Parts: sequence; C-alpha cells; structure tokens
Amino acid sequence: MSDQPIEDLERRCPRLGSPIPFRYCLISGEDDAICWKILDCWWETFDVKNYLKTNMPEAVFNELMAKADKPANKVGSIIDIVEKAKHR
Ligand code: SF4
Repeated sequence: MSDQPIEDLERRCPRLGSPIPFRYCLISGEDDAICWKILDCWWETFDVKNYLKTNMPEAVFNELMAKADKPANKVGSIIDIVEKAKHR
C-alpha cells in the first residue's frame, strides 16, 4: 500500500455508483454514522476491521460488528452483487 492516508483511499461505492474516499464511508450512515457496509467494501483494500477497532469507541465498534452480521445486511450485500453483475 502507498503512503497515502487511509482516509484518502478511494473505491467505487456500490450504493452511489461513483468513486468515494474512505473518509466518506466513516460518516455516510444514518445520522452521520459509519456506513454499515464498510467492512464489505474495504476488507480487500486494507485491514479495515483493525482500523475501526483502533479508531472507534469499543461500544460503537461492537454495534457495527453486530449490524454487519445481521441477515438483512447479508441480503443487501447479495442484492449489491446482483446489481454489479447486471452492469457488467
Ligand atoms: S462503505 Fe458505504 S459509502 Fe463506503 S463505499 Fe461502501 S457502500 Fe459506499
């Protein structure tokens, strides 16, 4: 990985369909919270789970982990995969 700050890393957002920096993902959830898809979207780029664990209050991190494991979110991820496949 480059010396680029993690917050400046970019990827295509599956929800917006355009490139966004990681810092946007930290505030794009409900009430400016972290986006619930952050683990799905960034795990291939860097150790996002460790980053969040290190930089978030423990209670907030645990809440995010619980949301990430909910079946509804897994269905959302499957829908995103289907949408990506349609655009190929
Ligand atoms: S974590 Fe959320 S805001 Fe960031 S790229 Fe994924 S879907 Fe988009």
